[in-house]
Amino acid sequence: SDNRTLEIRIMRYGDRQLLLIARDVTRLNQLEGMRKDFVANVSHELKTPLTVLQGYLEIMQTMEGTDSPNSKPLELMQQQTTRMQSMVEQLLALSRIEDADEIDLSQVVDMRVMIDVLKEEAKALALTDYTLVFDCDPELNIHGVELQLRSACSNLISNAIRYTPEGGTITVTWNKVAQGARFSVTDTGQGIAPQHISRLTERFYRVDNARSSKTGGTGLGLAIVKHALSHHHSELIIVSEVGVGSTFSFIIPSHLLADEVT
Ligand code: ADP
Repeated sequence: SDNRTLEIRIMRYGDRQLLLIARDVTRLNQLEGMRKDFVANVSHELKTPLTVLQGYLEIMQTMEGTDSPNSKPLELMQQQTTRMQSMVEQLLALSRIEDADEIDLSQVVDMRVMIDVLKEEAKALALTDYTLVFDCDPELNIHGVELQLRSACSNLISNAIRYTPEGGTITVTWNKVAQGARFSVTDTGQGIAPQHISRLTERFYRVDNARSSKTGGTGLGLAIVKHALSHHHSELIIVSEVGVGSTFSFIIPSHLLADEVT
């Protein structure tokens, strides 16, 4: 009938038989759409009250001054509203990125510019004693959506910095490989135990809540990365060892390589 969506799977069954499974996913898709709309709307609606709260908190902080017994609680309130704000921002970013069905991959992303931006961002984040190594080919351009790729790369870099103790090294590479172009971020940080790795890209999944809440994260970063990469026919590869460090990487397939920026 009208506008039904069927998911069809064909499997080889023995030597000469094929098995065809058709599933009506219309209702499932509708529910998924409702969930996305709901998240997007709620996030949007939360923005205004949070801005108002933050505004008044700032005024109160100025009025109370730093000697007041209220200054510590006010500071904590401010920190938490800032955290809520960044969660709302990330939820909106995630729903925008999830929603984008037809992605226009005809644009060429200027990697020289992007790498420079990523470098500056990383420097600003790694204010203390980190070693940042960038081993990137600035002429290796690809077709894609600049904003999405940048948000994927910068999420990976900021995670590497946030989950690596001071004194650590963060290495970022962007190079041609047999299957296409590979981006990687390697850190000498706390690492991730094997049982967590497959779940990291789930919304709100965090390995250690007590520890990560200190690092100011939302648990949405890698979900955003996953969606951004899937729009570019790519996926996140995570290799990690507890206490040694992690490498987060992805390969943009050859058919998206571009010769030059147009
Ligand atoms: P968060 O905002 O919590 O950083 P992410 O989705 O970016 O959310 O990451 C999910 C979880 O994956 C983090 O809470 C952290 O436990 C783990 N993680 C991500 N990157 C790293 C890394 N480079 N080293 C160790 N753990 C990491």
